[in-house]
Amino acid sequence: MPELPELEILVGNLRSRIKDKNLGKPIIVNPRVVGGDPNLLENKTIKDVTRRGKWVLILLDELYIAFHLRLNGYIFLLDYEEPDSYDCVILPIDGEYIHFGDPRRLAQMKITKGINSLTEELGLDPLSQEFTLEYLNKSLKKKRSNIKTFLMDQDIISGIGNTYADEILFSAKINPTRPCQSLDEEEIKLLYKSIKDILEEALRLGGTSTEEFTNLISREKSFEPRVHRREGEACPICDTPIVMIKIGGRGTYYCPKCQK
Ligand SMILES: [Zn+2]
Repeated sequence: MPELPELEILVGNLRSRIKDKNLGKPIIVNPRVVGGDPNLLENKTIKDVTRRGKWVLILLDELYIAFHLRLNGYIFLLDYEEPDSYDCVILPIDGEYIHFGDPRRLAQMKITKGINSLTEELGLDPLSQEFTLEYLNKSLKKKRSNIKTFLMDQDIISGIGNTYADEILFSAKINPTRPCQSLDEEEIKLLYKSIKDILEEALRLGGTSTEEFTNLISREKSFEPRVHRREGEACPICDTPIVMIKIGGRGTYYCPKCQK
């Protein structure tokens, strides 16, 4: 599942490939994943490609195409039109074709005039200016959950999933089971810095190389998780074996010595 750094890179690369180009007539293979009227798209010019939380947005004249990949969705930009097995929608763009699909058919594509309806429940983008230490502090004080669940709560912070939540907590030396309200001022400062640092590092390195959800990210280098999915391996700081526990049903990896 792509998280914020991977989506940010996808959006930048997609923008450089399709901006100012024109859409042809969309091919709808699976109407179930599509909201809105696809007939509105034909012959429209692509003004920009942006992101809001985990929504990938293609901006046309007064119209957006919004994609959400959920767990298994994908976006490929290819040179052929014929649908592949799990494709749901093909968007022709001046001789190239966006193939959007999902083997589980849970991904979504919406054609919409405004994006407020997509984002009203979303929390702040952790890479945005609005995401401040004060915002993090206030949000932590309101929550009764543990810190791992907090970081993955999309209504508070948008775009952090299981992998980066583990990496952020390792960087901040905070045990993932800690109640949010037990963090002191110094820990909250370090957590804030770790959120920015880890996401920016991942952005710089091209995200994690997990399952293929796009051909728009180069695979030459990638962010290597330090604890995530490294159960039993030595902690890179203290050599203690990394432990795996379940939090909210998700595998959670941490160093029992470094993370208090
Ligand atoms: Zn350690």
